[in-house]
Amino acid sequence: MRPPYSVLFGSVSFLFAACASPRQFDFIVRNGTVYDGSGGKPFVGDVAIRADTIAAIGNLGGATGKTELDAKGLAVSPGFINMLSWANLSLIEDGRSQADIRQGVTLEVMGEGESMGPLNDSMKREMRQQQGDLRFDVAWTTLGEYLDHLVRRGISPNVASFVGATSVRIHELGYADRPPTPAELARMRGLVRGAMEEGALGVGSSLIYAPAFYARTDELIELCRAAAPYGGMYISHLRSEGNQLLPAIDELLTIAREAGVPAEIYHLKAAGKANWGKMDAVIRKVDSARAVSSWQPRGEVTNQWQDAPEPALPAQGSEPWAGEGLKPKR
Ligand SMILES: [Zn+2]
Repeated sequence: MRPPYSVLFGSVSFLFAACASPRQFDFIVRNGTVYDGSGGKPFVGDVAIRADTIAAIGNLGGATGKTELDAKGLAVSPGFINMLSWANLSLIEDGRSQADIRQGVTLEVMGEGESMGPLNDSMKREMRQQQGDLRFDVAWTTLGEYLDHLVRRGISPNVASFVGATSVRIHELGYADRPPTPAELARMRGLVRGAMEEGALGVGSSLIYAPAFYARTDELIELCRAAAPYGGMYISHLRSEGNQLLPAIDELLTIAREAGVPAEIYHLKAAGKANWGKMDAVIRKVDSARAVSSWQPRGEVTNQWQDAPEPALPAQGSEPWAGEGLKPKR
């Protein structure tokens, strides 16, 4: 269990435990207005960091930091989570993640339909052939191996990924526009299970793009069923964000209900002026699905990859993205 959020959400209570420890820290941000991510009112205080972990928050007047920064008049917050990260290639090029980390992103969550694994030989060949300015060796096969590869090279942010529904489809069917055979589907489910065992967060889809939209609803339900025992969720770029928005929402809710997984919608919107008025109906659908949901956010995330040491405390809050989660009664 390696929940990166614990350094954020576990930090307030750790303050009390830290009071008895030496008041020497590596880094102290002083006098900032602290937004701790709990949703509560901000407060003016100091934040102390030891190694890469928030070690204390509050009035740390008696403490010293090897480096100190005065943040008077500035906001201090936990790192932001990029739930729809396409830093999968840029992190190979720049492990320091300068493009995102300078905007406050400390966790990159990848896997919108296509994930960096699992790969077969032809997918690897394609990934090599399609390289543009970013040149890299495809030195992994599974999703977990890719994330480990990143961490081994050295990266600044924490990383996690969904396993792509498109990727497991291409793995078994290539770019064919047909349903999988029972044997292919069984192998696809096996690939999802394998990724979940490596720590994937669930199944991601992007049903507006080929070959993703060749997948019918029942195929996606089966993939999500494979992720369900691991606590996986379903996250999707809907099949339509325009004229077919409402049926697309219904499809996502059906997948969540049938597979028994929480679900989240990527970049929820109503595209096209004729569809703008549908947003109220969309929210109503989500609200009513939540109203019958028995699913509760877990207090922890298992098997997240990170290049940081084990955090000081288990996570106390729910994952921020889990607020969108739902698991209707079956
Ligand atoms: Zn998208």
